[in-house]
Amino acid sequence: KARELLDRQKEIDSNAVAYPDHIPLVPDEAKGATIRDVDGNVFLDFFAGIGVLNVGHANPYVMDAVHEQADKLVHTVDFPSEPRLDLIEKLEAIAPGGLAGNSKVVFGGPTGSDAIEAAIKLAKYNTGGSGLVAFRGSYHGATSGAMSITGKKDFKEPYAPLLPNVQFAPYPHPFEQGKTPERAVADSLREVRAIIEEPYGGMTNPAGIFVEPIQGEGGVVTPPEGFLSGLREIADDNDLPLVVDEIQAGLGRTGEWWASDHYDVTPDIVTTAKALGGVGFPLSATIYHEDLDTWGPGDHAGTYRGHVVAMRAGLRALEYVEEHDLLAHARRLGDDMRSRLRDVDAPAVGDVRGKGLFVGVEFVDGDGDPAPDAVKRVQEHCYENGVLVWKAGQHGNVLRLLPPLVLTDAQAEAGLDVLCDAIERVDV
Ligand code: PMP
Repeated sequence: KARELLDRQKEIDSNAVAYPDHIPLVPDEAKGATIRDVDGNVFLDFFAGIGVLNVGHANPYVMDAVHEQADKLVHTVDFPSEPRLDLIEKLEAIAPGGLAGNSKVVFGGPTGSDAIEAAIKLAKYNTGGSGLVAFRGSYHGATSGAMSITGKKDFKEPYAPLLPNVQFAPYPHPFEQGKTPERAVADSLREVRAIIEEPYGGMTNPAGIFVEPIQGEGGVVTPPEGFLSGLREIADDNDLPLVVDEIQAGLGRTGEWWASDHYDVTPDIVTTAKALGGVGFPLSATIYHEDLDTWGPGDHAGTYRGHVVAMRAGLRALEYVEEHDLLAHARRLGDDMRSRLRDVDAPAVGDVRGKGLFVGVEFVDGDGDPAPDAVKRVQEHCYENGVLVWKAGQHGNVLRLLPPLVLTDAQAEAGLDVLCDAIERVDV
């Protein structure tokens, strides 16, 4: 049955769909951290729809509210509803650092890219500038503004010209750069300063610094201490907003509500999406300091800014995370997983990193060069043995694990048995 549906999809769906041929999964039903495919095979899900299903597939606490809400009221644009107001209040309460209690929320639309577009507009609106500082290896989305600050050349090249006045600094990646963490951070911050502050060759009219607190698509690149706080300092020195893209890393994934919480940094603007819709409903938000709320009615628009079911689901999911202490669970289980992965005896494993249940394993060959085939083989072996794992990285050589935060210890162990075995088999 899976083959039949895959063939049908290939025939009629867009060529733009990037289907991983080596993981021919056709899901039929999913609960918690497991997926059953159309042929009845059951998989442990270490992917969670790109880190969307933090509280698990079809979480019953969320689904009860979803069914009730869907029968009552689905779409209101910007008219008030209790789910909308409750979610705004909740997001303002859990916002990172000093944003808590001093923030505003704008729902920009269903996708992460929408939240990024809103953040770009807000930064420009408040500074009157146009220049955007971003980072190599970043991913911020598929719309034109978001692509402009995405550091992946072949992804955006066919659509040039995108936004003008965007410059990229290196993201600190000590393993890949072969530098000490301190050196990697210092080199990156120096370039950011040069872009913003150099009188010649620098950027004219900067509007903001856009950064992922952990690069997700870029390979679960977890910056050393000093990077985000250094960016905070540069932003302050130059009166610029620091925009932190928490779309993949936020909402509990790393064992704190926000990845920036690990670094004690308060952003001016935060983007969130993915897990925000609770159990996979499309919903995004841009949270920002109330001082930046200078725009007026209609300055940012969108039809789907009030999806009541998604908002209700999102709120319930945040409640669920709190009530079940899933942040602490994610921290502990993530640390256990990383330590087990570090113990695997496999020369191809160059680096194991991440925070909470955001885990990356970087594969290299004997010369230390990226080994994307190793990741593919690990994915294949895992799939054949009932575990779904994903990849990331500029070179596709990073295995990325983003299991639901409700993953149990027993599920983690079973999944890692398969995964570690797969890694041991890899021969580069
Ligand atoms: N920012 C980050 C950090 C992301 O990981 C993604 C999606 N992978 C996006 C933005 C874009 O989100 P969406 O695909 O929902 O537009």
